[in-house]
Amino acid sequence: MTKKKLECPFCKSLNCVLLEKVNSHLNKKDYDLNKCNKCGLQFFTPPVFEDIYLNEGFLGQIDYYNEIHKGRTEASMWSQKIFDEIRENRIEIKNKKIIDIGGADGVNFDVLVKDFGINPEDYYILEGDERSIMACKKRGIKNIIPRYLSEDLKVKEKFDIVIMSGIIEHFTDLKVCMNAIFKMCNEGALIFIVTPNRNRWFLKWKVGLDVPPHHFYRFDKKFFRDNFRDELIEISTFERKKPYIDSAKSISDKLKLHWLLLYPFIPILRMANYFNSEELYCLLKVRSEVKK
Ligand SMILES: [Zn+2]
Repeated sequence: MTKKKLECPFCKSLNCVLLEKVNSHLNKKDYDLNKCNKCGLQFFTPPVFEDIYLNEGFLGQIDYYNEIHKGRTEASMWSQKIFDEIRENRIEIKNKKIIDIGGADGVNFDVLVKDFGINPEDYYILEGDERSIMACKKRGIKNIIPRYLSEDLKVKEKFDIVIMSGIIEHFTDLKVCMNAIFKMCNEGALIFIVTPNRNRWFLKWKVGLDVPPHHFYRFDKKFFRDNFRDELIEISTFERKKPYIDSAKSISDKLKLHWLLLYPFIPILRMANYFNSEELYCLLKVRSEVKK
């Protein structure tokens, strides 16, 4: 049996190399972390989707999904970044057709209606997880596309605003999913992407959920600059606002030191981290309509 050559899931180049072997703490399975030398993407193999979202008891992440399935009242910090950008740049989203890709419990819907005054009819959510769909219905979301993104997904509507808040790293086939998204867009549509920054200074200390079968890709600024040259409006990094104690505790777990010993150093580490922050924010503009 010949082993299939490693192929980049984005640019399809065969010029890919193994970076390291990773045992996921989420499901105890082994994965390869690879890098494509052509487009610069880092990707895990095998990219096998596991429906961890339906399982409330998913190895140590019980509370996380339980909360989402109940229906959160506050948008995630990834979505909040998108909302901040829309406000600061005075981007007009009223009377625009909006799609929230992998929008989970639909918490963004509440913010968009209450704070931005969008027409509820203009909001669409693409979500395949049954419990999340129930939460969306409870909120009164009418336009629910009860699916995960895939090649054969047919959506009648075309959109002006696409929200991809902490979702791009979850796709199992990046090229197929990005093509599907571009096909849903009107000319001039804006695509808001927030995803972890693989060059974050804290990466070694805080892997968290940034491994398969949760995340399959690791991005950096250069990836978006090189591969979305025509569409790129902005690419930047940002830091989530959270208490110093959380950072001290996550580092202390790794170093096996008491968190109190680390606490005084956290402000300094935060400053160092400023230049290589945890998250990427990317805004793309669709230049021409992709024909179906
Ligand atoms: Zn590639």
